[in-house]
Amino acid sequence: MLHKIKTAWFAVAAASVAAPVLADEVNVYSYRQPQLIAPLTDAFTEETGIKVNVAYLNKGMVERMQAEGKRSPADLVFTVDISRLSSVVGADLTQAVQSDVLAANVPAQYRDPDGHWFGLTTRARVVYASKERVKPEEVTTYEDLADPKWKGRICTRSGMHAYNIALTSAMVHHLGEDGAAKWLEGVKDNLARKPQGNDRAQVKAIWAGECDIAIGNTYYMGKMVNDPEQKAWADSVEVLFPTFEGAGTHVNISGVAMAKHAPHPENALKLMEFLTSPAAQEIYAKANFEYPIAPGTEADPLVQSWGTFEADDVNLMTLAGNRPAALRITEEVDFDG
Ligand code: FE
Repeated sequence: MLHKIKTAWFAVAAASVAAPVLADEVNVYSYRQPQLIAPLTDAFTEETGIKVNVAYLNKGMVERMQAEGKRSPADLVFTVDISRLSSVVGADLTQAVQSDVLAANVPAQYRDPDGHWFGLTTRARVVYASKERVKPEEVTTYEDLADPKWKGRICTRSGMHAYNIALTSAMVHHLGEDGAAKWLEGVKDNLARKPQGNDRAQVKAIWAGECDIAIGNTYYMGKMVNDPEQKAWADSVEVLFPTFEGAGTHVNISGVAMAKHAPHPENALKLMEFLTSPAAQEIYAKANFEYPIAPGTEADPLVQSWGTFEADDVNLMTLAGNRPAALRITEEVDFDG
């Protein structure tokens, strides 16, 4: 309480002399939804007294920050997918952060070696398989999805979607560009229908008998199970964790980056360290049925019930670097056509 009064007085005093506002606060631009973020920012404010202002955006974060330039109020950026994180970094809108706490809480493959972004949670891109028509041991590797045995049996969303582009980027890493193109062509040949809809729509299609396996992100299983209309879709499938041949399962991240012109860099670092703490990661992961990444943390029991897997150990920066090739390949094989 005392702290709130102090903050209010300080804001008024600062405004009255037209000086930059130095209130005890931190500003976030978020592509992630309020119900995921609010519990954590509330806990952070409770612990530190630092107020968190969040602008929830659907798109245009890079353009907005570019337009704001040095006057941008953003301290931190929250988003999912390495492609979105790296687009903010690539536009020169972030700054490097050095912190022993962050380094201890975030495994090396889930952060930028230069400190421009840090992962908070992971999600695996897996196979949803019909309980009736597919035996779990039939699904082994991502490479195997191009095998003719799956002809007319696979459903997926657009190959141009960030989730599938990241998977194809990983395939470029494992097989090279030519190998990845051949693989994608093989998967296309096995599709039951043209790519369409979101990840959950593919599970619905399995439930409806249109296809036998689908590619999707793990957390949608949790969302479907908890949605009365979609529970039957979830109940019709098993989550299976393919791997790349000789490697692990494809994962992507949600993460955080500090804005280049952050007006409150010290508070921003405090919030980053708070978010990467094992306890906060578990809360954040649970809210969206994702996996926390700090050593010693555990996913929610429902998430654990889908099974265990070994994540592919490629650094996500490599995937970001392969994105242009993945986009090109996806267009060349006319995956969505
Ligand atoms: Fe999603």
